[in-house]
Amino acid sequence: MPTHTAEAARRRTFAIISHPDAGKTTLTEKFLLFGGAIRQAGSVKSRKSAKHATSDWMTLEKERGISVTSSVMQFPYDGRIVNLLDTPGHADFSEDTYRVLTAVDSALMVIDCAKGVEERTIKLMEVCRLRDTPIMTFINKLDREGKSPVELLDEVERVLDIPCAPITWPIGMGSRLKGVIHLMTGEVHLFETGKNFTRQDSTIFPSIEDPALVKRVGAQLLDEVREELALVQGASHPFDRELYLAGLQTPVFFGSAVNNFGVQLLLDFFVTHAPAPKPRDASLRKVSPEEPAFSGFVFKIQANMDPLHRDRVAFLRVCSGSYQHGIKALHVRTGKEMRLGDALTFMASERELAEHAYPGDVIGIHNHGTIAIADTFTVGDPLQFTGIPSFAPELFRRIRLRDPLRLKHLQKGLTQLSEEGATQFFRPLLSNDLILGAIGTLQFEVVAYRLKDEYGVEASFEPVQIHTARWIQAESDSDLEEFREKAATHLALDASGALVYLAPSRVNLQMAQERAPKICFTATREHS
Ligand code: GDP
Repeated sequence: MPTHTAEAARRRTFAIISHPDAGKTTLTEKFLLFGGAIRQAGSVKSRKSAKHATSDWMTLEKERGISVTSSVMQFPYDGRIVNLLDTPGHADFSEDTYRVLTAVDSALMVIDCAKGVEERTIKLMEVCRLRDTPIMTFINKLDREGKSPVELLDEVERVLDIPCAPITWPIGMGSRLKGVIHLMTGEVHLFETGKNFTRQDSTIFPSIEDPALVKRVGAQLLDEVREELALVQGASHPFDRELYLAGLQTPVFFGSAVNNFGVQLLLDFFVTHAPAPKPRDASLRKVSPEEPAFSGFVFKIQANMDPLHRDRVAFLRVCSGSYQHGIKALHVRTGKEMRLGDALTFMASERELAEHAYPGDVIGIHNHGTIAIADTFTVGDPLQFTGIPSFAPELFRRIRLRDPLRLKHLQKGLTQLSEEGATQFFRPLLSNDLILGAIGTLQFEVVAYRLKDEYGVEASFEPVQIHTARWIQAESDSDLEEFREKAATHLALDASGALVYLAPSRVNLQMAQERAPKICFTATREHS
């Protein structure tokens, strides 16, 4: 078997989806501990604050309790290579998150046992469903009182509309939490505060009937669990890998991330059953990870990842073949060959020079403004990966610059920040206005903050009469030209130079569409 095929088969590329505060960061940290990527519990949090302490920008992130900087963490576990792609946490970041989810092969959903299925989880689940992404579920914070396990499964099935297959089952909850039963092996893992960081024989029993376990836990609690299990096993679904892989069933685990309890059982199951990279849709055909020619697509661009080095990084998911240090690849959109010389890999977010990368891996390419979201790089056919859209923004502001002499800096900042994809920047054809569009209001604050912090530009935003934006296309150049002339007052160019209609109201948009039947108005733009 060629190296890249064998390497692809052991890749597990996934993202954690959850409502803020459910325990995503804590669980990530435990995974990294098991993967040997960090030595100490607490490192993820402290790294979050210490590394960026010099940047005020992070203060905003902390104040808001949101995670803006997204990263990729790679670690080995049990013969596999796990790539964990972080998703931005705040609801405003849906578009960004959406694109990260186009780059994973599966997802892990974390639910707080006291809160159950929360609003953000519902949204993320909808996004996963668009691509039938397989999902595992971890119900967290079992060391606290919460809803009953049966109730939680019922809620997931009802609200998220996905059948559950419990793989572990808790014995007690809150102060009575004693452990979990692995329903496939029958083994019981006991919970001991502060001790569940590694497997310990003293805390694992072969079955719920083991006399030594009865002695430790007490007959009454075990009776209750037996009763519950009789009920659950009658009503729930046995694990079916095919259904899971089709996104039609979710295996469920119970535990406590902060206590590292139930986490290793989850991780063991995850690396065994979660999918390796699959073939991906592209413009000419599907691309299999087994193809020898390197290919991949950019799903995220981030400016100024490291405040000390004013860099921009394009995150590329490898889809086929292998990346070798220094290879040249065709940048399909521009038709130019580029040397991907000094790409980065993300070993638990410490950036290192990448020597090799295989399907499922993510590499970071230094970007000097030529790379855009959804760009394909390939050394084989000039195909284009599909399915990575841009959504029309729903909120608009006109940008006011305090010091007009800083206009160049402002334009540069806006262009770079809109490359990241969370905001979009428009230049009307007939005025000198600069218009910023976003999906959520928080984005404007973030942009104002970053313009000041990273580009030294003081800007404020004022309301502007724009209801929505539509990208414009036409069958023929003459139709387009005619429309361009007639509708010029409402037309603008986006950061990539594409023509956009900025409609002051819904009625205006409707009328414009009726008057120009040969023009296609779209709310999403497939990057091309
Ligand atoms: P995120 O916003 O999803 O990344 O959530 P965090 O991992 O930052 O966790 C949110 C809060 O819940 C933090 O205070 C954690 O210490 C706490 N937490 C995480 N896991 C557990 C758990 O298993 N039990 C309890 N009691 N608290 C937890």
